[in-house]
Amino acid sequence: MVRAGICVSCGACVALDAGGASRMRTTPRGPLPQFAPDTRLPELAWDACPGKGIVYPALYRAHYGKLPESWLVGPLLVVRTGHAADPAVRAKGASGGVTSAVLIHLLEAGLVDAVIVAKQGVPTPLEASPVFANARDQVLAAAQSVYIPVAMLDALARLEPGKRYAITLVPEQAAALRWLQTQGDARALQIAYVLGPYTGTALYPAAIQTFLRSQRVPRSDAVTSLQWRAGEWPGYLEIRTEAGRVLRSKKIYYNFLIPFFVTQASLQSMDFANEFCDLSVGDAWSPKFEAEGGGHSVVVTRSAEMEAIVARLVADGTLALDTVDPLGATEMHGHMIDFKKRGGFIRNGWRLALGLKAPDYGIAPESVPTSRKAVEAVVSGLFVVGRTGLARWIVAQIPESVIGPVFNRLRLGWKAASKPTKRKGLGNLRMIETVRDPGRE
Ligand SMILES: Cc1cc2nc3c(=O)[nH]c(=O)nc-3n(C[C@H](O)[C@H](O)[C@H](O)COP(=O)(O)OP(=O)(O)OC[C@H]3O[C@@H](n4cnc5c(N)ncnc54)[C@H](O)[C@@H]3O)c2cc1C
Ligand code: SF4
Repeated sequence: MVRAGICVSCGACVALDAGGASRMRTTPRGPLPQFAPDTRLPELAWDACPGKGIVYPALYRAHYGKLPESWLVGPLLVVRTGHAADPAVRAKGASGGVTSAVLIHLLEAGLVDAVIVAKQGVPTPLEASPVFANARDQVLAAAQSVYIPVAMLDALARLEPGKRYAITLVPEQAAALRWLQTQGDARALQIAYVLGPYTGTALYPAAIQTFLRSQRVPRSDAVTSLQWRAGEWPGYLEIRTEAGRVLRSKKIYYNFLIPFFVTQASLQSMDFANEFCDLSVGDAWSPKFEAEGGGHSVVVTRSAEMEAIVARLVADGTLALDTVDPLGATEMHGHMIDFKKRGGFIRNGWRLALGLKAPDYGIAPESVPTSRKAVEAVVSGLFVVGRTGLARWIVAQIPESVIGPVFNRLRLGWKAASKPTKRKGLGNLRMIETVRDPGRE
């Protein structure tokens, strides 16, 4: 998977190495497995590897006992919008602080011994790692989104026997963990609750260097801290340096890094709404909420136990959430749902046609209009050109104050122009199960 360029940096294989000496090593493409000479990987490591793809229909059946009724956002119980009621938690959170509020409750109610969260700045300001938190302050210190790959499942190797945990995972990691759980892996079964973000695109860590160069920060001026969603929702990237510089870029502006540094995991994934979490949370993008400000989330419960917890937290005033129509809520994320469900499928197919490796999720959209493939040719063409060394060098020469707003205008223009094609047939999206090629096994 690593050589083929489709490892999604989940860390599961390293945690499962019975030799115990393999590690996730830091690279410009995020953490990647470095296998020790005496690596002993069980068969399960291959089966659970989300880089090669996990067969989703089998996983839906094993975990939920059925296929999803909605192929847009996966099996669900209730969809709500809102935020954490405590203004301090809401302000700390990436969107509305609901994830952090629920994690704090799980800890304080004694439902788990610790929560495993992603923290930017560990072990160095430019890296991010899973950390164990067992108090409110520690959970809040790891709030916000981390937009570079974090090897969350690496933490499975550090669980203490007999303890129960909650964890935050991005979609491929959640699928891998569920696969391990369905296969009875003892450590995976210690994870009692899985929470995770809706996940559109993540960036390779090399993006940060380009951002710094575009802000004319010399290489000698080291970064001392980095936050991806600082300040008022939707937040800004904030980087502080040793020389005392404080760089801020609005979220909508630093999106210019996406075409140049989008991760392969973002492009190959077919899951946007984190369909194997007990609780999935995204930004509630809507003109109404954006005008109101303050941070709003869309919140999806997928297990009876998590639904009971969230309902209790709404009743006792910890969470300020309103139930909404599930299909209506998908309107907020139609673009990204299409990017994953149809775009991911098309891109993976094209990789295979070019002789490259791609994950196989065992599902395919029932039909993909030709116009949608044409839109994908433009999008993918942009990524292919953007990810070359020359394009990355050129973009580093343009000040963020210029490229940020220009890119934002182009993005909004493209989004409006491609919307009819990208939304066509999306509401009725159906997936079919595909027969896997046994030759790949
Ligand atoms: C890479 C990425 C892409 C995203 N793309 C979209 C998008 O396109 N559309 C959308 O609506 N929402 C997206 N989100 C989700 C959004 O940014 C918020 O994370 C989400 O709304 C939860 O907000 P919150 O206030 O409840 O979270 P918080 O209360 O801030 O808690 C977030 C929790 O998630 C953990 N976490 C953060 N990043 C990671 C990570 N990379 N891996 C594992 N755990 C993590 C944190 O440690 C923290 O505990 C994305 C998130 C990520 C990480
Ligand atoms: S995707 Fe995960 S399990 Fe697969 S090779 Fe990468 S780190 Fe290992």
